[in-house]
Amino acid sequence: MIAVDPRRRAELAEALAAVHTRIDAAAVAAGRAPEELTLLAVTKFFPAADAAALAGLGVHDLAESRDPEAGDKAAALAEAGEQVRWHFVGQLQTNKAGRVARYADVVHSVDRPRLVDALDAGADRAGRELDVLLQVALGGPDAERRGGADPDDVLGLAQHVAQSQHLRLRGLMAVAPRGQDPAPAFERLARLGERLRTEHPDATWLSAGMSGDLEQAVAHGATHLRIGSAILGARPPAR
Ligand SMILES: *Cc1c(COP(=O)(O)O)cnc(C)c1O
Repeated sequence: MIAVDPRRRAELAEALAAVHTRIDAAAVAAGRAPEELTLLAVTKFFPAADAAALAGLGVHDLAESRDPEAGDKAAALAEAGEQVRWHFVGQLQTNKAGRVARYADVVHSVDRPRLVDALDAGADRAGRELDVLLQVALGGPDAERRGGADPDDVLGLAQHVAQSQHLRLRGLMAVAPRGQDPAPAFERLARLGERLRTEHPDATWLSAGMSGDLEQAVAHGATHLRIGSAILGARPPAR
């Protein structure tokens, strides 16, 4: 059992309801069915009790961006008997891929062949299959730090995943450039997703949209929304 403070639970429930209202409105505005959209709560920097509270509120997809924090939370929730899918969305060092392959169900940040190989080997050792998304770099001032593959390299990288033993290619992920209109970036991502599907028809996911830009992401075909601060509150600033 993970003890959840009832006041915090109520606060999370209210914020979650507000986010669902935004997502539903964005879906209606885009002429899409809300069921096409999966909400991921990004729990990084928040305690396992918050993650457990969200699972109790019906959020079954949780996302983290750092190992070992992610692994510790996954272990805590598993021990408490919570059934959740863990999405790893942060920059991933090759030497940590084996650990992440033991607890992540989906890795959104695959951006280079060596990481594909390391995750595949880790999944093999763990006796698991992983869903993976290719992270695409869409430019902007903080692009370097965020990682992501050059759009021109994405089809080659997809081929590499397709040849792996234990990774299933599900689609693309991107973070919109900070401080710019996200719409053109999401539009480029959507077009790249269309090209990818001509060769990999099962790669239907587009992981795009965060607390500040989920409406634009939904308008441009996002299927998975990664929402942190709008649900959990402000994180400590510098990382
Ligand atoms: C932290 C994070 C998010 C969530 O960001 P918010 O703006 O708090 O919603 C989404 N995606 C990635 C890759 C992140 O690291």
